[in-house]
Amino acid sequence: MAKISTYKIQIYGRVQGVGFRPFIFNLANLNKLVGSVSNNANGVLIYINSSEEKATYFVDQILKGKPEVSIITNHSIEEVSFIAYTNFTIIVSESNQQINIPLTPDFAVCKACKEEITDENNRRFNYAFTTCVHCGPRYAITTKFPFERENTTLENFKMCSSCESEYTNPSNKRFHSQTNSCSNCGITLQLVDSSGNLVEENEQDIIQKVAQFISEGKIISIKNTNGYLLCCDATNKGVIKELRKRKKRPNKPFAVLYPSIEAIKNDFNITKNEKTALQSRVAPIVILQNTKTTKIKTETVAPNLNQTGVMLPSSSLLELLLQFFKKPIIATSGNIHGSPILSDQKEAQEELQYVADYFLHHNLNIEFPQDDSVVKFIDEQQIILRRSRGLAPNYLEIESKNTAPSLAMGAHLKSTFAFVPNKHTYVSQYFGNLDNFDVLERYKSTIQQYGNLFNSKPKTILVDKHPQYQSTILGKELALKNNVKLIEIQHHKAHFASVLGEHDLFSSKEKILGVVWDGTGLGDDNNIWGGEFFIYQNQKINRSNHFEYFDWIANDKMAKEPRLSLFSLLNNDTRHLIKEKFTATEWKVYNKTLQNNTLKTSSVGRLFDAVASILDIIDINSYEAEAAMLLENYAISAKNKKITDFLEGNNYETIPIKFLMQTIIKSYKIDGFSKTSVAQSFIYTLAKIIIREALKNKITIIACSGGVFQNSLLVLMLLRLAKKEGITIKLNRKLSANDENISFGQLMYHQNIKN
Ligand SMILES: [Zn+2]
Ligand SMILES: [Zn+2]
Repeated sequence: MAKISTYKIQIYGRVQGVGFRPFIFNLANLNKLVGSVSNNANGVLIYINSSEEKATYFVDQILKGKPEVSIITNHSIEEVSFIAYTNFTIIVSESNQQINIPLTPDFAVCKACKEEITDENNRRFNYAFTTCVHCGPRYAITTKFPFERENTTLENFKMCSSCESEYTNPSNKRFHSQTNSCSNCGITLQLVDSSGNLVEENEQDIIQKVAQFISEGKIISIKNTNGYLLCCDATNKGVIKELRKRKKRPNKPFAVLYPSIEAIKNDFNITKNEKTALQSRVAPIVILQNTKTTKIKTETVAPNLNQTGVMLPSSSLLELLLQFFKKPIIATSGNIHGSPILSDQKEAQEELQYVADYFLHHNLNIEFPQDDSVVKFIDEQQIILRRSRGLAPNYLEIESKNTAPSLAMGAHLKSTFAFVPNKHTYVSQYFGNLDNFDVLERYKSTIQQYGNLFNSKPKTILVDKHPQYQSTILGKELALKNNVKLIEIQHHKAHFASVLGEHDLFSSKEKILGVVWDGTGLGDDNNIWGGEFFIYQNQKINRSNHFEYFDWIANDKMAKEPRLSLFSLLNNDTRHLIKEKFTATEWKVYNKTLQNNTLKTSSVGRLFDAVASILDIIDINSYEAEAAMLLENYAISAKNKKITDFLEGNNYETIPIKFLMQTIIKSYKIDGFSKTSVAQSFIYTLAKIIIREALKNKITIIACSGGVFQNSLLVLMLLRLAKKEGITIKLNRKLSANDENISFGQLMYHQNIKN
């Protein structure tokens, strides 16, 4: 008989809160193995008594059969001193050690749970917080490590005897399910009006009542497991307009929540990838092209855009509501324009009292409120537009080389932070614009929470060079207070480093061209950069070219008013063409400002604005990047097959942005180009600029980042042109291309670049 020894198996990765211990327990029993399994500071720790051969086979079975939502990044097996076991047990974790595991993200409700809540004979019929080891909130309710019930906000809910018996029964799907609860022992709903008066007493009837209110054209604020949503009937134009008015959000697109994938298919043509994403455990908002006639009021859901953000229910609560309502509803973050998503009942009731007619509250505390994530697809490629629920906060692909904990503060408008307390990199969810007081408070308190969770203080703090970013100001304060090193990293170099990091390109022997285009970021020469080319080689990043500088006037107004970018980009001969876009006073003031201005910019974001304005598409934005989105929308709808490169045959060094504007004006005003074909040719010209820059420098790998690369048509054209030239394009993958990736980029720059 083979020698029986004790083997210690350590599993690393996303292995807590995903049903790993019950899986191991059952697998061990199946293999008639004795030993133990526990969560530890590194993941899951298993001891078994076994022969060497059987132990190897056991590990193999773990890797092959691992729970659906788990991710194993590494594992190890070693023989240790013999321990006499008599059976196989799950040991509840104790942990005072340095934590070295990912945080488990929230998982959207699974198919099996959906079936239970709609089955009259099931004891979870109608229970809005039904979860199992494969689904339910995780990160949202985490208060401590490791993922055990007492370390979540479910701590205060004591399981009833039925739930307890499921929890302790190895053959039950809720064996060791930390979020286990039912209507007898679990979370309770409360439906109140805008003044807080109770509307429906009977818990079983509450969701049906909400559905009824929605069908009557009411606006309801619903506390989902990731925060409050504002919901109304997506087929009722009047109520959507009312919601826009009350939320002070005139045009920014709303997301639409559908009852089923079949209902989505009725309204949209979806690809396999889009379907997979919609049904995934992330359950993000997926941006789809409007190709069919639908009952939803697309023109009020996403004004002037030919696309709609669509999602499926992420929780049992929303699933039940949609089962009752049976039609799509608007589901947008519960906040006033620009504020963070609310999660506290009192706050929601106060802040949204003039927005929502009714509130559906529940008594589960949300520790980490998050917006819904947003993605779209270009060909096969998934582009992340907002990284939040279901995706944040782990960045599993990168094992940190740092030994000392570091904190990267990120940018300002699309703020995130990145923290490396151990071998893992955590990139927080999206917070929003730090000019908003509540967003800044949320950002600060979450940084604090991470420090507590990991019981770790950063030894290095990384900030953007921009001295007025709130993230920079806070980073400097923290560095001073804790007496730790502070390092400033240039905005666009951080963007570039984020792609290099995502694709593990720092060890590349070949030169890499970095193309970083966005709205604004402070440059090394104190101008406002945004149309930059860099070359990466031998752990160094150097700026190799940029868009020609033009005047940045009127501070923050420049980004909000596309007409100002146009004003700045026209020369003295053509500026009069747009005089009617301004009042007489404005015209005088801006002309004077222009004469005395010293601040310059190379922003491609502002170039998009100028083109949108010259085409009379938009002069003043009502939400960030509106002009760029509208311009893309025009370009996509171009029927004209003839595409022009506006810089064809032009011999330039710095990208001649003013000449480009003159050519565009000539095409539109004199040569008879339509708006759509100017828009399309403009984006094509940008793609050509990138390819020419690579050919000029004899570079075959291009890494692109910055908000401009959320433009699907630009990316699509670039991918096709690059393919013809044998050039590889690298884009942000798990992170958004916009300023959400700055915090991660700062870390990557700090860890890899020696400038
Ligand atoms: Zn489930
Ligand atoms: Zn129960």
